[in-house]
Amino acid sequence: MRLLNLFKRLQITPISQTTRFFAQEYTPKPLRSLKAKSTRNTVQYYVDACRVRAVAGNGGDGCISFLSAWCKEHAGPDGGDGGHGGHVIFQATHSVKSLNHCRSVVQAKHGQRGDNKDCTGKNAEHVVVPVPLGTIVKDASGRVLADLDTEGVMFVAARGGAGGRGNKFFLTDTEQAPDVAELGATGETHSYSLSVRSLAHVGLVGAPNAGKSTLLRAATRARPAVAPYPFTTLQPHIGMVQYDDYEQVAIADLPGLIPGSHKNYGLGIQFLQHVERCRGLIYLLDGSTDPQEQYESLSFEVAQYNADLADRPQCIVVNKIDLPEGKKNFESLKKQMQVIGISAKTGQNLVELLKVVRRMYDSGKS
Ligand code: GDP
Ligand code: MG
Repeated sequence: MRLLNLFKRLQITPISQTTRFFAQEYTPKPLRSLKAKSTRNTVQYYVDACRVRAVAGNGGDGCISFLSAWCKEHAGPDGGDGGHGGHVIFQATHSVKSLNHCRSVVQAKHGQRGDNKDCTGKNAEHVVVPVPLGTIVKDASGRVLADLDTEGVMFVAARGGAGGRGNKFFLTDTEQAPDVAELGATGETHSYSLSVRSLAHVGLVGAPNAGKSTLLRAATRARPAVAPYPFTTLQPHIGMVQYDDYEQVAIADLPGLIPGSHKNYGLGIQFLQHVERCRGLIYLLDGSTDPQEQYESLSFEVAQYNADLADRPQCIVVNKIDLPEGKKNFESLKKQMQVIGISAKTGQNLVELLKVVRRMYDSGKS
């Protein structure tokens, strides 16, 4: 008792109380973003696949030159070598997350030509293109050439041409005045297609107009376009949800899936490829039309494309419960399976969904 009084006076928490605090189940809460969202209308897509033509630099030509000094008219050849052309290199790094910055043609500089007085031309600098970890490099025929999954790993996409030798190099005992020099070699040119293997932690799968983009706008700072017609979203958008333990979960708004997507109907199979690169899936169903039918058709499409996707962590969400028929459909579906009802437009139950997303993210963490 006296010890407890001492603790109280010194404002120390007894150990038994501290352990009780940690023993409670702790679900990290999503943080409310305090900064106002930007009103600028610059829509930024998340580019997860692109084609790049890598053009390396040519080598500099060697020089033909003969030195003529004041006391020695024929002082011998002094043509320097050309510099090497620059390579184009892809390097995996943590610091970039998408391929937005990749230009369709990446050109390295040429090496400088050699000069008289034995001056060697300057080598061109290599162009290093940073790419996200997990980038897969394929050639034009679709063959996988490299998987850049470790920090700092490089792939030489195009090698620069070697510099040509100047006429000084060709000086021999028998040939004292060589008037030959090499031209610089031409740099390589190759085309590649790059794709990022992991797109986001969680992907939003749903029929067109289910409210995927509205949900992403409500939960994160991403600004995908919202409109009441199908296929507003043509490219994936990524938003980050921040939690109060500093963990960030990336959510991708994917273009809508329609029946037959696995046979390349609608916007095609490309979007199922995006789904494949998410760790977990949220099936977002439109509450105002029959949600169960939507779920069956979506899960059929996904399973037809790749049966392994069915084993990924997933949750089923019914949107638009602010509408009366949405509420009614949600109540009837709730009796059959575990679903979460939200309204992306009014923000109803969004925090609950984000807590579930976090649990899904934790369970799928490798
Ligand atoms: P997406 O095609 O799945 O990305 O759908 P959008 O986010 O573009 O939304 C399609 C339409 O549904 C828009 O007109 C939204 O205003 C509307 N919408 C989205 N969420 C809700 C919701 O929770 N309640 C209501 N009433 N309308 C919604
Ligand atoms: Mg959309």
